[in-house]
Formats: sequence, C-alpha cells, structure tokens
Amino acid sequence: METILNLPIENKIFYAVLVFSWTVYLWEAYLAYRQRRIYRLTVHVPQELGKIMDTDTFEKSRLYQLDKSNFSFWSGLYSETEGTLILLFGGIPFVWKVAGTVTARFGLGPEYEIFQSLSFLILATLFSAFTGLPWSIYNTFVIEEKHGFNQQSLGFFLKDAVKKFIVTQCILLPVTSLLLYIIKIGGDFFFIYAWLFTLGVSLVLVTIYADYIAPLFDKFTPLPEGELKEEIESMSKSISFPLTKVYVVEGSKRSSHSNAYFYGFFKNKRIVLFDTLLEDYSPLNKDGETDTPTEDKSKLKNKKQGCNNPEVLAVLGHELGHWKLGHTVKNIVISQMNSFLCFFLFAVLIGRKELFVAFGFYNSQPTLIGLMIIFQFIFSPYNEVLSFCLTVLSRRFEFQADSFALGMGRASELYSALIKLNKDNLGFPVADWLFSMWHYSHPPLLERLRALGSTKQD
Ligand SMILES: [Zn+2]
Repeated sequence: METILNLPIENKIFYAVLVFSWTVYLWEAYLAYRQRRIYRLTVHVPQELGKIMDTDTFEKSRLYQLDKSNFSFWSGLYSETEGTLILLFGGIPFVWKVAGTVTARFGLGPEYEIFQSLSFLILATLFSAFTGLPWSIYNTFVIEEKHGFNQQSLGFFLKDAVKKFIVTQCILLPVTSLLLYIIKIGGDFFFIYAWLFTLGVSLVLVTIYADYIAPLFDKFTPLPEGELKEEIESMSKSISFPLTKVYVVEGSKRSSHSNAYFYGFFKNKRIVLFDTLLEDYSPLNKDGETDTPTEDKSKLKNKKQGCNNPEVLAVLGHELGHWKLGHTVKNIVISQMNSFLCFFLFAVLIGRKELFVAFGFYNSQPTLIGLMIIFQFIFSPYNEVLSFCLTVLSRRFEFQADSFALGMGRASELYSALIKLNKDNLGFPVADWLFSMWHYSHPPLLERLRALGSTKQD
C-alpha cells in the first residue's frame, strides 16, 4: 500500500486510468454474464408472453441473442486487452514519434505540430480500422448471416468500409486542424471558442449529413404518392410538424433490421422510413411469396416482414412524439452543455505536465494528445456516469413518446407494431433487470406493451 502511495503523481494517474478501465470492463462483463444466463435458461416462452411471441420466433431470437452476446464477450475482451497493451507499451508516444518521422520526410519539422497531429490521426484511425475489420466481418458474415439478417456481399461490405474511412478522414482532418488552431490562438478563453466551433461543426454536419453524406452510402427515394404518404402528411399537419419530404431508404441492401427516423432544422423536417419497415416495400417480402394466396400467410408468418400502413403511422406517431415533446431539443441542449463543461475542464487541465508524462510524453505536450488523454482517459468516470444517466433519460423519453402515440389514438396499432418489429429484429423479450437498467436505451418490450395496454382500457 505504501509503495502505491509513494509513487509519483504521473504513475498514480496512469494506474488509476488502467484500473478504472478494467473495473468498467469487469462490471460490463458481469452484466453481460447475467444476461447470457437468461438467454441460456429461458428456453420456454414465459406465460405472459404467450400471446405475443410464438415458440419458434422465441427460440430463434434466443439463439440469435446468445450468439451476439458470446461474440461481444470475445470482441470486448480483445479490445480491452488491446487498449491495455497499447497503454502499457507506450503505443501512443510510439505512434506520435512515427507520425513525426512521416512529417519530417515532407520537410516539416516538429515546429509544425499540426502536421504531426494530422499524420498521427491518420495512423491511429488506420490502425483501429484494420484491427476492427476482422471483428466486423465476423459479425456481419457469420453471426448476422447465420440468423438471416445479412444482405451484403463481401465486396459491398469492403467498398463500404473504404468509403466510410475516406469520408471520415475528409471530415476529421480539417475539423481537427481548425480546432487545434483555435486552441492555439484562442488565448485565455480558448475553451469558449473551441466549444462554439464544435457546436458550429455539429450543426453543419447535421444539415449536410442527410443530403450529402448519407446518400453516398444508401439509396434514398421519395415515398411515392399514395395512401401512406397522404396519411403521413395529414398526421404531421394535425400536430403542426413541418414536414417537407418523406423518404424510403434502401436499408434492405445491408440488413433486414428495420427502423424509422426524422431529421432537419426548424421548418424543414423530413421523415425517413426503412424499406424493411414497410410491408409493401420490403424487397425481402417479394421472393417466393408471389403465388401464395393471402389466406396462407399465417403459415409464412416468419417470412413476411414489416408493418402495415396503420402500424407504420403508429410508429411515426411515436417518432413525432419525440419531436412534439421536445426530446430532440433537450438532447441537443444536454450534449452541448456537456461539451462546454468538458472544454472548460480541458482548459483547466491542459497545462498539467504530469498528465502528459503519465502517458509517456516526457518532453512535449502536443495539444491533440492532450485532447485524447483528457477527453478519453481522465473524463472516463464522468463519461460512464453521464452515459448511464442518458440511458435512463432515453427510456423515459420512449415511454413518453409511446404515450404520445396513444394520445393520438394509435395505441393498438403501436402495440402490434412493437410486437412485429421485435419479431422482425429478433429481439429477446426477457431481460435481466440490472443488464437492462444499464444498457437498454428503450424499455423492455413487455413494459412498453403494458404501458400501452393498461391505459388503453381507460
Ligand atoms: Zn423512440
């Protein structure tokens, strides 16, 4: 004990970061173990779920979630070990040095810290892309494939990964250079300018993302004129949602998981529906079912994917509830307050040389490294607490949005939509209370159904 107390402050910082990281890891591993035990032991549909899920779907979802959980055990163990080894063997100062050698090749000495920082960033993102790739390939082509979700070919997947890497660099590099520059010339109040800058960047990204970035990856087509579109428009009108366009995104190119969301500023909101959400659009419904009479649909219940129009409208009622109840704005305000606080604390801490020494930077204090150490390592306990609070808040918001849809008279459609979506996505309806409290951004299915059902009777 005495030896730990006598260590220099930089060693204490270093070991505190490592110990905290492993504590979080072990806590999460314990929670995942509890949840896995539920997957293993709950082999029969619990009585209260009898009307909601058939035995076959229940078993399928149980095996899917069990595979996913085992996978995340190994990938989690790998990344925790990798992170620890990087810290223990001085990986960060090593890559920083390599980045310096690279920039020196171009005749840019250490006085050009920005160039060294950029080449460090490229090297670091390349490293994480390459070490992450095998995991992500295994996840897509073994696990998702085995359970019938994967719709991608390996070629599509790799092209996508390269595109994603390039697009990320195109945003990350200029934004980081400007941020470093602002911190450098900002004087005593640089943290205010840095915060304003990141606020501006996030607003610009939100504005251009849907029109210029997302279409690089997926095909968006306007929802054709027709009953569904008219009903979406009239529903938006009824709650004064300033809808300008409805799109269908070809999510089926990637996976058969389904979703819906809205985006846009002020008076220019758009709604995006995954084709996999729409019974009539999902290409996954189209093969092999053409000559089957509709009466036989019950036999094919596991083939037919997506929701009918009233259910889609109920799902949208829930989504629009998030908007009407101010959840979107509240989330933005929280994240901006958090980012201001982080920049302020960063300004307080950046002058402390011992933070740099702790991570192997004995003679220099590069700003980029400071950002990394402080935001990622020093703030990690705070980040854990914050993310738990946000998860709790998110579940509250989900209940509120459900009850908004209920107020619009769409409770029974939402009820059946939730069941269908849970089935299409093979969600497992039984959860360990501690695991779900920590991880679930949405309340467990049964709780949502109960909330919808019990008020429905009133
Ligand atoms: Zn929601």
